[in-house]
Amino acid sequence: MNKVVIVTGGAGYIGSHTVVELFNAGFTPVLLDDFRNSQPWIIDRLEQLMGVRPLVHEVDCQDAIAVEEVFARYTNCDGVIHFAADKAVGESVVNPVKYYQNNVGSLCVILNAMKRFHLENLVFSSSCTVYGESDEIVVTEESPVKSAVSPYGDTKITCERIIRYQIEAEQDLKAFLLRYFNPIGAHPSGLIGELPQGVPNNLVPYITQTAKGIREKLTVFGGDYHTPDGTNIRDYIHVCDLARAHVLALNYLSSKEKPFCDVLNLGTGKGTSVLELITTFEDVNELKLNYTIGDRRSGDVEQIYANTQKAKEVLDWSCDFSLGDALRHSWQWEKGIKEHS
Ligand code: UDP
Repeated sequence: MNKVVIVTGGAGYIGSHTVVELFNAGFTPVLLDDFRNSQPWIIDRLEQLMGVRPLVHEVDCQDAIAVEEVFARYTNCDGVIHFAADKAVGESVVNPVKYYQNNVGSLCVILNAMKRFHLENLVFSSSCTVYGESDEIVVTEESPVKSAVSPYGDTKITCERIIRYQIEAEQDLKAFLLRYFNPIGAHPSGLIGELPQGVPNNLVPYITQTAKGIREKLTVFGGDYHTPDGTNIRDYIHVCDLARAHVLALNYLSSKEKPFCDVLNLGTGKGTSVLELITTFEDVNELKLNYTIGDRRSGDVEQIYANTQKAKEVLDWSCDFSLGDALRHSWQWEKGIKEHS
């Protein structure tokens, strides 16, 4: 029988792509999602991609009773990948309690459930936001974790700390804390991708919505940074490459003795400026984007990208997709959203 993996937030952007990668690697993914920030029809798409309908439990991960009821059904489970969280930085500033309650609360529920059912392997969704306003442009896992610039960022730092403390205390858990850089792109099939609610905060969905005519124009937040073209530099990683790293991380955990805890940066190792990204989007999709250079957005780090050496060495992982691939896939997905939904 295939190994079962519980995927919280499995209908979300990174979660849904990871479900496909898990399935392709021979696992049986079990999705926990309350669809607060995802669409139920994504499950139909997963069925189309996998040829079988995934197992789904509509559960809020803050609900300990409901979560433990699900865990009780999969006591043969190989591990948990915990994506379920709120992720809008701006909203977290306006409503911090919501972020601590959901992001930290859900993790505590999951850790208790794992303990109760003796599940050992945890892959946790963290973020490069934990490096804050880093003194280094290329960050390694050894770069200092800075005090967070937003409540969202602080929930990720707090969750990482809780997992470390739990492992120290209980000695019966193995975990990877995966620090994502900027996930973009969509599945090459065009069947699943990112579905931002309302006006996108992130660059690539804003670009694709502008190209589609949903937004009038993109404003580049700042053209006077100390970078070669004056715009911010980030590390944009294709969501399928990111998703595949989760499968490798889980396999790695299974092979280790407990206790175990380690952190990995997941990026491409390459910095791309906002203007470079726009030009690549225009080139690969053969279109022109309406954009203007505007003021800086408060809280933006000037430039940051990943040193990915450790993830390469530990997981024997590297990215298959280029920036151009990711931007082609994002555009393909955007064009299809209305007719599909
Ligand atoms: N950005 C921009 N216009 C937008 C959205 C984002 O110029 O409408 C820039 C933003 O200033 C940053 C980069 O795009 O330099 C990536 O922003 P995003 O919010 O996607 O990710 P993060 O800030 O978390 O790295």
